[in-house]
Amino acid sequence: MTTITKFDQFGLSAGMLASLERMDYTTPTPVQAQAIPLALKGRDIMGSAQTGTGKTAAFAIPLVEHLLKNPTSTALVLTPTRELGKQIMDIMHQLLGPKSGIKTAFLIGGAPMNKQMDMLRKNPRLVVGTPGRINDHLERRTVNFDKTDFLVLDETDRMLDMGFSVQLDRIFKFLPNKRQTLMFSATLPKNIVNLSQQYLHNPERIAVGSTVTPSKNINQVIVKLTEEQKFGVLVEQLEARKGSVVIFVKTKYGTERLAKRLKGNNSGFTAEAIHGDLKQNRRDRVIRDYRAQKYRILVATDVVARGLDVPHIEHMINYDFQQ
Ligand code: AMP
Repeated sequence: MTTITKFDQFGLSAGMLASLERMDYTTPTPVQAQAIPLALKGRDIMGSAQTGTGKTAAFAIPLVEHLLKNPTSTALVLTPTRELGKQIMDIMHQLLGPKSGIKTAFLIGGAPMNKQMDMLRKNPRLVVGTPGRINDHLERRTVNFDKTDFLVLDETDRMLDMGFSVQLDRIFKFLPNKRQTLMFSATLPKNIVNLSQQYLHNPERIAVGSTVTPSKNINQVIVKLTEEQKFGVLVEQLEARKGSVVIFVKTKYGTERLAKRLKGNNSGFTAEAIHGDLKQNRRDRVIRDYRAQKYRILVATDVVARGLDVPHIEHMINYDFQQ
């Protein structure tokens, strides 16, 4: 097996290499080293890799190269949440570079329809979005995938967990059969394997790290408590530890209540809540401020915060039992 240690060994376009330099990406991560050469050859890929491994660029680099080489092609990326979608859009725009004429559309639920229609009228060659909203557009015939010969399914296990299976099946009906498909999933339960057999053509399997156990440099601690003890012990833990924290809570209301209780505790904690019912701009602000370390504790529902790319998170606390 050949080992590729630098991006300039992939035979990427000059524009792409310039973008990677601007982004300070010099050495491919393991998932990139495996996926990019295969994807550039046109192969389908079934990849197991988690957020934090560099999987976004592993599919985004070949996707952008595909669009540059095939001027009539369009590409579609399906992702479970708007936050992940935003991270993908951000990487795509950085890879396309400031002078790219390639238009993009970001189609996520909960955002105004008319703004998305405006983006779609400009004939975007890259669509990134969540399956529900993309289906809405397909039904209204405001989007068309006739030329979409490059498809990415990101965090497929989560899309299925969130009940998007029916929507995915519908979207596939609108895509050309002759296409390249890259599918990524943190875990590979049976329904994911079935989906890959149904929709991928002779895929290459790539795996980065373990698909079932957490990363080795993560310490896990379980504290058994009664409901009455929970808040007090949480405060002790927060006081004993340094650095940014995410606390997972089961319900939307629970996130608000806990954030309020932490802020009101006279202990000087700074906290914000995030969940699916918050308005888009509020969610964006909460995430942006967290990234900028304007406050320390993010209290979140699982669905919203899993997979968030925030490098400075030091502790994650599951305050309620996870399903
Ligand atoms: P991801 O797993 O795609 O969410 O990426 C995790 C983080 O790694 C993101 O902040 C990326 O910008 C960063 N990243 C991905 N690939 C590289 C690379 N080859 N060199 C440096 N940083 C990278």
